[in-house]
Amino acid sequence: MTTPIRTYRAVSTSRLAESPTFSIAVTFLGGLTESQQSAFEHAAYRWTRVIVGALPAADVDGQSIDNIVILAQGVPIHGHGLEGIMGQAGPTHLRAESSSAALLPAKGVMTFDAADLAMMEEGGTLFDVITHEMGHVLGIGTLWADKGLLRDLGTSNPTFVGAGAMQEYGKLLGTGQPTPVPVESTGGTGTAYRHWRRTVFHYELMSSSIAGPGHPLSRMTVASLGDLGYQVDLDAADAYELPDPLTLAQAGVLVPHTAPIDAGAMLPVLPVVLRQPTYVEPQVPGIEGTTEEGRMVISGFQPPPITGGIKRGVKRLEDAQLHVTHESVRPEVVRLINSYIETRERRHTDHFWDVMAEIITIAVGARIADKEPPLNKEEVWDYIDVTAVFWNTWNHPR
Ligand SMILES: [Zn+2]
Repeated sequence: MTTPIRTYRAVSTSRLAESPTFSIAVTFLGGLTESQQSAFEHAAYRWTRVIVGALPAADVDGQSIDNIVILAQGVPIHGHGLEGIMGQAGPTHLRAESSSAALLPAKGVMTFDAADLAMMEEGGTLFDVITHEMGHVLGIGTLWADKGLLRDLGTSNPTFVGAGAMQEYGKLLGTGQPTPVPVESTGGTGTAYRHWRRTVFHYELMSSSIAGPGHPLSRMTVASLGDLGYQVDLDAADAYELPDPLTLAQAGVLVPHTAPIDAGAMLPVLPVVLRQPTYVEPQVPGIEGTTEEGRMVISGFQPPPITGGIKRGVKRLEDAQLHVTHESVRPEVVRLINSYIETRERRHTDHFWDVMAEIITIAVGARIADKEPPLNKEEVWDYIDVTAVFWNTWNHPR
């Protein structure tokens, strides 16, 4: 299919928002039929009814972005040893932490397998699935941990603790008491900790499975966007009530769905955090000189040369037949290493980072291959710290 690249922009017309308002630009890169593109347009329109206030412009790779741009495409994924993969959706670039819209996405991607799109269209779930995945690009599930809004990760009862969503959940419960919102704890990467718990919320749009058309976008989901930092219009939500568990159990719908929307299917995207255009690199005194090797890298001033390390790591994953590609693993490895460098400002040599990149690539790749939750940033940082302590005592050939 050869469709020209075109961009559709949905603009919020809410009476609540002052001009300028929130907008979602969807750039179609190809591989989508007209009706599929129309589902993306309707989904963008749906979200601009609940998110209303404009975000500050962001600079991504020299391009100034109003609010958010989403790249959308259909590609043949199956038949490349990736039968279980439906696609990938999530933010790719987040606004700087120092921005007034800290960490809110500037750019995202939604890539679907062409055959899956056709199947969903036939089954009537296309609009709901696209809307759901666009919700992830906007930050639902994908930014919860980064925003510090999750509690009790790793237990069977993780919860979302944003004030707005807790208040709406209390209303749904009928108690009126703000209550931590149950989050999905089962399923692999892409499902656990990224959705409302399916056994509690069942057919709500952002719970972890989509069984048919017409999933409501609740006030609780809208309020959770407010908790992320968006200006929202709660009254633009759909009517939604908690399902009665007995009725659901009797209807047999609490049996785990064989094909929940993200089951082994939607690969997570690991975004990079942008720097403010006005961001000034911190000046660290006393690091102008070079070491005796002449190879000291001032991290944060200069990206470490980790490409070779990632290549070697991917090679080892390929040798182990783990089916992990450079493209699938690189963004997370870069993100983990950059997050360490930006936060801790530790200085290490090129060689150190090259070797760390190889080790982290293998760890990240194994998680992806096993469909397990992504590596915890803190875990990786500790590991880098520990490695650094021993580094100079190792005898490591170049
Ligand atoms: Zn999802």
